[in-house]
Amino acid sequence: MASFDVVLRGGHVLDPHNGTDQIADVGIRSGKIDQVGQGLDTSGATVHDATGRYVMPGHIDIHTHVSAVAERGLDRAVGFKMLAESGTTTALDLNGEPNGFADGMKRRGAGINMATVLSLVPHESIPEDDPRPSVVREVLDKALVEGAIGLKMIGGYHPFTPEATSDIIEVANSRTAWIAYHVGSKDSGSQIEGLREVPGILGGGRLHVAHVNSYTRGVINKAEDEVREAFDILQRMKGQVVTEAYLAQINGTNGFCDEDGNVVANVPRNCLQLRGYPLTEVGMRQALLDGYGFAQVEQDGRMVLVTGEEAVRIWEAAGTNASLSFPVNPASSAFTLTTEKDENGEFYIDAVSTDGGSMPRNVAIERTFALVSFGALSPLEAAHKLAWMPSRLMGLLNKGHFTPGADGDVTIVDPLSGKATMSLVDGEVIMKDGKSLANGGTWIVAPEGEATASNSGLKYEVLDLTQSRLYAGWS
Ligand SMILES: [Zn+2]
Repeated sequence: MASFDVVLRGGHVLDPHNGTDQIADVGIRSGKIDQVGQGLDTSGATVHDATGRYVMPGHIDIHTHVSAVAERGLDRAVGFKMLAESGTTTALDLNGEPNGFADGMKRRGAGINMATVLSLVPHESIPEDDPRPSVVREVLDKALVEGAIGLKMIGGYHPFTPEATSDIIEVANSRTAWIAYHVGSKDSGSQIEGLREVPGILGGGRLHVAHVNSYTRGVINKAEDEVREAFDILQRMKGQVVTEAYLAQINGTNGFCDEDGNVVANVPRNCLQLRGYPLTEVGMRQALLDGYGFAQVEQDGRMVLVTGEEAVRIWEAAGTNASLSFPVNPASSAFTLTTEKDENGEFYIDAVSTDGGSMPRNVAIERTFALVSFGALSPLEAAHKLAWMPSRLMGLLNKGHFTPGADGDVTIVDPLSGKATMSLVDGEVIMKDGKSLANGGTWIVAPEGEATASNSGLKYEVLDLTQSRLYAGWS
């Protein structure tokens, strides 16, 4: 006789892989999905009533931030709890540092499964600007042992030459390591021009092109034209790239100004330029005072945004090297990037991400289900973009679906608010009504990182990226 540890009763089950789009119960045993069906036997089981809710495989977010190289002032580890509170069950920390990541998961983990990558910041995490391949190899091999699954290039802040960018991708590909790129080289910028360079830089390689929405903000052309061009560029690299776009209006950037009073990084310069502010300390101060720019501050264990004089105070106290946000992502671009399909009926952009975690914009689930309410996506398509596809992108073969034996990771969503009301990892409730209930988490590492993960005391899982869409392709 079937007997379950947990039964999620009477919800509208969304499992794109198995084509389930109907009212059913989900039975979980020993942390794994055991059965999906009507009228499951609940004797002896913990029953959670899911009537009137969507029940989907746990949300997997491949672009979040819970650690950082050379972060000053803010504890990015608040992001674990913020992700859990929004209904995420698995995530990739995309601008990370493996030691800080593991320490953060021990201190402030919230029961979710997470992997990290090492962000390449010259003279912080890599000793050379435009590093030689031998140096990249050394840095990558050390990062894998320390528990990262690969590398991230942050071209909007620390761009390399196109040649060095290309070399870094090649080295990562040779190790079957994750390689993500916030586009922009020393020849271009963090906008559509940066994306135009990618096919030439990539050659025959494999790459995660991060947050495509960031290059379609209308910095160079009209936003809708940039979206079209982005689709064309990505189609030329189909089968070689994995992509995501996030749905928050605000970005996340940095307000650092040099000794001459000029805003340094490309991304904040674009933000100021979009509204006609001078690209200087004076312009930045005014943008904050006017309520256009926001600073981040930790409050009750979460990061929140503040603007006006309070934001100026935080930015000045950090010597201008403060994390800032601007509402620069047009809703029209977000809509098209998330919903549009190519001539084969496949989404141009693979997944919905948050680029959140410690940045207060963990809105992937609620905004994707807002598109369902709007009629722009079907409920099954929402689950496809939030769970099934990201599980394939990362090669998390036991996640993203409810096939018997799959991990008991579930996100339950209120169709009216679009918000997650409960989530489970391995059959354990980690969030209920927006409250995070768990600690620690499962550290997802490359095979090279197994000893480090095992010694960390955290639960861990070894990921085989040869199974990911990044490397196995789309067959
Ligand atoms: Zn990011």
